[in-house]
Amino acid sequence: MTGKINTDPQLNAALDYFKTEDQSSGFNFESFDYKVGVGVNVTKEEILESVQKHFKNELETIIEQRYFFNFAKVISKVANDLKWADRKAIVECVDLEKLKLLGPKTESNSLLQAEGRNKESKRKTTVSSTPNSSEPGSFIWSVLSKLHKVGENYNADGYVITPNTTRLLREHVKACEGKYRTRFPPEPNGILHIGHAKAMNLNFGIAKLKGGHCILRYDDTNPEAEDVRFFTEILNMVEWLGHEPWKVSHTSDYFHELYDFAKELTRRGLAYVDHQTAEEIFEERGGENKGPRRESPYRNRPIDENLRLLEEMRKGLWDEGSACLRMKQDMRDGNPQMWDLVAYRVKFVPHPRTGSEWCIYPSYDFAHCLVDSLENITHSLCTAEFQQSRISYYWLCNALDVYCPVQWEFSRLEIANAVLSKRKILKLIEKAIVTGWSDPRLHTLPALKRRGYPPEAINDFCERVGVTTATSTVDNSLLEACVRNYLNEHAPRTMAVLNPLKVTLINYSQGVIEVEAPDFPTRANTTKHKLRFDGVFYIERDDFREKLEKDYKRLTLEQPVGLSHIGYVITVADIIRDPEGNILELKVTYSPRESTVRKVKAFIHWVSDPAEAEVRWYYPLLKERKGEKTTDFLDLVNPNSLKIYPEALIDKGIMNASVGERFQFERIGYFSVDADSSSSRLVFNLTVTLREDKGKKYNKNL
Ligand code: ATP
Ligand code: MG
Repeated sequence: MTGKINTDPQLNAALDYFKTEDQSSGFNFESFDYKVGVGVNVTKEEILESVQKHFKNELETIIEQRYFFNFAKVISKVANDLKWADRKAIVECVDLEKLKLLGPKTESNSLLQAEGRNKESKRKTTVSSTPNSSEPGSFIWSVLSKLHKVGENYNADGYVITPNTTRLLREHVKACEGKYRTRFPPEPNGILHIGHAKAMNLNFGIAKLKGGHCILRYDDTNPEAEDVRFFTEILNMVEWLGHEPWKVSHTSDYFHELYDFAKELTRRGLAYVDHQTAEEIFEERGGENKGPRRESPYRNRPIDENLRLLEEMRKGLWDEGSACLRMKQDMRDGNPQMWDLVAYRVKFVPHPRTGSEWCIYPSYDFAHCLVDSLENITHSLCTAEFQQSRISYYWLCNALDVYCPVQWEFSRLEIANAVLSKRKILKLIEKAIVTGWSDPRLHTLPALKRRGYPPEAINDFCERVGVTTATSTVDNSLLEACVRNYLNEHAPRTMAVLNPLKVTLINYSQGVIEVEAPDFPTRANTTKHKLRFDGVFYIERDDFREKLEKDYKRLTLEQPVGLSHIGYVITVADIIRDPEGNILELKVTYSPRESTVRKVKAFIHWVSDPAEAEVRWYYPLLKERKGEKTTDFLDLVNPNSLKIYPEALIDKGIMNASVGERFQFERIGYFSVDADSSSSRLVFNLTVTLREDKGKKYNKNL
């Protein structure tokens, strides 16, 4: 009131003072003024001076990392120097210095996020060097700067402070030893997909970076949809992506604690047993037209009766749908999450882990926040659609006077034209459009693994997509660019022909010769592999045309072409055809490259004395949506999303490759060995084409 508390830090310190200082022996103004900085006025000049000092200390790194530099570091150092300075003023000064030093933000600083979202973008999606999530400037760092510090839950927006908060937070900090504790909570009712990879990247990433812990928690409250095999599949994928859960837990591990909480809530008069049908409850909550709401006729029954009925529900005395436990919240609140949510339902379904011990199961709204609390989660990260659930999350923890974690929302990752939803994937499986959860055309993690996507590339992608609060729909080309970027460095080159045309050299007499080809041509000291050549070889049918067409640089009757690695230049002498006129074979002459006077416009790949293989080429599963948003997604299914090359030919040198091994087939793309392979015949999946536009050109089926 006297205008002597001017800045956020002063105000927060004042609030903290009231929360933490013992005032039983009277209020001490002197200590208050001192601890809160009452009357201290930090000038803009003082702030600027401190900002400039810290910029100078970090100058080299700032210039090198530019906008990737973690400026939050500077901000917190200035805030340390000038304890009572206004935060906003510090940020403004830092922004000003940034602009002075680096100039305006250029495109290369924008993390490709905008590019991913901009479908109109005609630019090819390429990615620069891989950002390392543990380095300052990565997006996890920028996320961290937004999160509250362990134990300072009250600093988070909208956190509800109760008379118990100080005590509960103190106990909480002790329990988690002051370390960040996150959790990844999949429902074991399906297979993880690329969206989950982002959730894992964040939860495990934050814990790792802060030296904390991340729990893998199976959110198994819905026994109807759960299946034992999903538990193992989920763990496999978590580990495949390189994450190490500190602990594996299940919501069902806490069924007893949760039931005790339900009883306690009832005892406190904050829950009641309702006998209305689901339809009646829906109507009571305003119905389809969101009309007036009314309270349940069972809302005000006596506590003892509620306790007795709840126990009866647990004992199986009530049929499914005839009774449920509801929280007694506030039907007049504007947020539907406060309209007496269901806490427990009767379900006579055995649970994969608890068998038939229970016939009542907690709802997500009831279980999630309480298990977060029991596990002393510091930051409960969830996707943005749960934003309106934050209110009930806090309400329930506070209604029971238990530690209340902070819920933080991040945007759900969607990939344009990819099917992620479990319900939709099940439909595709049901209609035999895909072969199962791991069909390489899907974006589930087992599918991406089978297709040859490296886990490193998936994590890189998550890192680049970053975090925004809006839903981020990202073009698949960004994911593919990350895969290409990684495989370029890690998948050795080989030659393979998908659609072979036989070629015989007629002036060749050297028998079998061997040439060497580099595994990684861009590396200085690359390893090499040997290629055998015996005068008969195979090229892609598409690398020969009878007539010379404009801009066609490869083999024609008039135009010679070079053979990669061996350097020969071949000229067509004769075409052998079947009775229908189809080309069976080319007879060609050759000259070593050095002796040819004619300039060759192109070099093509080939295989000699090859092995047979099958190559599976994938196109997008869904066609692009045009116009009408409401189209049933099944109408968008591309009927030609799989093309098989059953007579592909590969270099015998890679015959002993194992399942999952990846290669670059020169001039075509990256491929990985599928589990359908046998020792005599390998099967390859197209991982990604060499260049983005190549896929589009080949993509004539759409
Ligand atoms: P779906 O709607 O695809 O069935 P879900 O949300 O039911 O997915 P869960 O198994 O409950 O899947 O999700 C586990 C965790 O992963 C949750 O924290 C959830 O918020 C997060 N998650 C799920 N889908 C995405 C996504 N597309 N992007 C980011 N995070 C996601
Ligand atoms: Mg879910």
